[in-house]
Amino acid sequence: RTIGPVFAAKNLFKSYGGLRATDNLSLQLETGKIHALIGPNGAGKTTALSQLSGELQPDEGQVWFCGQDITRYSMPKRARMGVARSFQITAIFDDFTVAENVAVAVQSRAGHHFSFWRAVGRDKGINHRTNELLDLVGLAAFARRRAADLAHGQKRQLEIAMALALEPKVLLLDEPMAGMGPTESTQLAELLERLKQDFAILLVEHDMNIVFRLADIISVLVNGAVIASGTVEDIRENEDVQKAYLAEG
Ligand code: ATP
Repeated sequence: RTIGPVFAAKNLFKSYGGLRATDNLSLQLETGKIHALIGPNGAGKTTALSQLSGELQPDEGQVWFCGQDITRYSMPKRARMGVARSFQITAIFDDFTVAENVAVAVQSRAGHHFSFWRAVGRDKGINHRTNELLDLVGLAAFARRRAADLAHGQKRQLEIAMALALEPKVLLLDEPMAGMGPTESTQLAELLERLKQDFAILLVEHDMNIVFRLADIISVLVNGAVIASGTVEDIRENEDVQKAYLAEG
């Protein structure tokens, strides 16, 4: 467990033509804490997240992970190092069972070339880790169900299990509650609360109830710039935030 921030963005800038999508953005992620990134539509949340995950290169600034400058590292390289982005790309194989999907992810972490048969039952180590992950995300009872037949919220849980199979230190979550009903988002919130002690989590989320419930730190993005950063109470009481954002919705 690293003391202090495991992950940091320092003075990131990114422009599209004349538009500053990211304007001097800095933020830090610590193990055991959920850092929420909020802001109105078009504020630059997705652009920021993409620079943290490595899908997008900043024009200026750096991204640091465990004391190392990873700014020029690709997304796959960052993922292998322990920076996982979830919910953007659904990598679920519909025709595989829930357990098979997780087993494939576990196998890829183990560094093997893909072998369906190794992944699905012939390797005790992979089976053991698969079962642990299914327990952790609350899908043990659905292990043998076809992935395509899961409810929307359960697919999100499966995606988390698959992201965790890579044994990340940092989880970058892009609107994980999108498209969920209240019961499903409550379940996912409970899962994130259970997980958070072992990870440094960045949560981009529109639902302010979820943000206020889960976040240890909130940064508010407007026009690509962080206009405020602090605890839930700090942000609730911040007048600039109310003017720029909360009043709007
Ligand atoms: P939302 O909450 O609606 O998803 P967001 O906060 O994630 O919005 P971004 O999608 O990061 O915001 O967009 C930030 C700004 O950058 C917007 O004005 C958007 O139009 C612009 N933008 C994003 N990607 C590109 C691109 N590839 N080319 C040009 N402009 C872009």
